[in-house]
Order: sequence, then C-alpha cells, then structure tokens
Amino acid sequence: MRKSLRERSFERIKFGIDIDGVLADFMPVFRVFVEREYGDRFELEDVRKYDLTGVLGTREETWKKVMDFIASKEFADLPVVRGARECVQELANSGAELFVVTSRPGEARDTTLEWLEQNFPRLFKGVYFSWRASDAPSPEAKKLVCERVGISVLFDDRLDVARECSKVARAYLMDQPWNRLYGAAARWGAKANNMKRVNSWYEFISELAKEADEI
Ligand SMILES: [Mg+2]
Repeated sequence: MRKSLRERSFERIKFGIDIDGVLADFMPVFRVFVEREYGDRFELEDVRKYDLTGVLGTREETWKKVMDFIASKEFADLPVVRGARECVQELANSGAELFVVTSRPGEARDTTLEWLEQNFPRLFKGVYFSWRASDAPSPEAKKLVCERVGISVLFDDRLDVARECSKVARAYLMDQPWNRLYGAAARWGAKANNMKRVNSWYEFISELAKEADEI
C-alpha cells in the first residue's frame, strides 16, 4: 500500500511540476507522429538523452519536427501520465500550492493552457514557461523560475534540470529512459544531493509522505 499525504501537511509549500514526461505522456505519441509523418523510427528505450538531435536529423530538422508536432491534434490531446490526476488532486488537498514549470516554447502556450484546464481544472495556481526567463530553454532557466517563485519541491524528467534545480529546491526525477545514467555517469549521478528518482506519481507521493517533515 502506498502512503498518502495528510491533510494540510504541505500547507503553503510551493511545488513546481513539469509537463512533458511528468503530467503529459509526450514521447510515445511523438514517436508515433514522427514515424507516420517522416518515417523516422526509434524505440523509447533508445532515447538515452532528452535531445533527439541525431535520432531525427540535424538540430534544425529536429526543431521543425517538434514544431509540426506542437501544431498537431495529437499534441493538443496528449494523454495524462498514469496516476497524475489523482496524485495532483491529493497534493492540492494537502495544502500545497501547485505551479506548472515547463520548457515548452511560446508556440505551445495556448494549447498548453487549454490542455491543463481540460485535464487539471483549477488545480494549478500558475503556469510558468521557463523559456521566458532566459534566451533559451535550459536547466538554468528553470532554476531561475524556482528561485523567483519560491518553489520548494520540483518534479521533472530531465536529469540536467533536476540536478540544476536541486541547488535551490528538493528535486524529484520521474524515471524515464532519457534520464537513466549509463557507465561512469551512473556512479557520478548517484551522488547528486537533494534529488531523488521515482518510478511513478504514486512513488512520488509515497516519498513525500515519508519525507514531509524534512521539506
Ligand atoms: Mg519534461
């Protein structure tokens, strides 16, 4: 049985939640889209880093494919990650102040706000597009948002983001093929402080319940 959160245990604690790979199941749908549209084939387990350059072509080609996807119906209708709905609700019930912090580009803004309203109505107090905090989406841009908003807990699926933000917040990393560490990096990554890897939304909530007193 997983642990649940006590009512008010996170009263006024600010949480930053990422969208793609955490709230929305982006990659499986994107994978099907690029195979259909361009004949690009890759397996999720092959995505060993978040940047798909190389898998989908040059940087420009990759960016164009991402932009085409952002304009598609599939992107507007991305499925919610398993457990996210009930766990976000549980967090809200615990008194947490929930914010979305995403690196999605400006072109995705309207679709993103509609998707959140449809799937998580009135559960988030604010939506931050971290690309606005600096010239380009980057781990530093998310850290800046965390600092400005006063985020105490960040939930993300990018290893570089979680690691950078763990300097100013407690970071939880949603396990995904692209954030697993291989070889020597695995030993180095295991040493990161203030960052914990979880396999699901249920595990995230269980960890929070265990660690509530430390946050
Ligand atoms: Mg993400």
